[in-house]
Amino acid sequence: MNNNCTCTSTREKFLVVFQELKPQHWQLIESYGWVSKKGISSRDDNIAKLDDATLSNGISVSSEYAGCPYCKAKGIFICGHCMAVNCHDSDTGSIACAECHTHGELTPIEAL
Ligand SMILES: [Zn+2]
Ligand SMILES: [Zn+2]
Repeated sequence: MNNNCTCTSTREKFLVVFQELKPQHWQLIESYGWVSKKGISSRDDNIAKLDDATLSNGISVSSEYAGCPYCKAKGIFICGHCMAVNCHDSDTGSIACAECHTHGELTPIEAL
């Protein structure tokens, strides 16, 4: 499953790739910057929006994940307002969605 993701530092968009570890549990394994996205355009059909069911079942980040292609943040968060995926540097507790600008406290991904 591919998802659009927005970098909270640069507001650039990129693709994140989730792999289904077990039914309805997705793990973030890879990211693609906008330039290299051209190379995987055949996968565009797979771009999905995370939904409540997916979120409630769990999303995790692989230890192999290289991070955001722009700011190198190793984590992500999903905006509870617009469901946009944002890159996230896990050191900060407060977040602001790069898409809808909603501010809030970080809910650990594992707890979603
Ligand atoms: Zn970023
Ligand atoms: Zn949002």
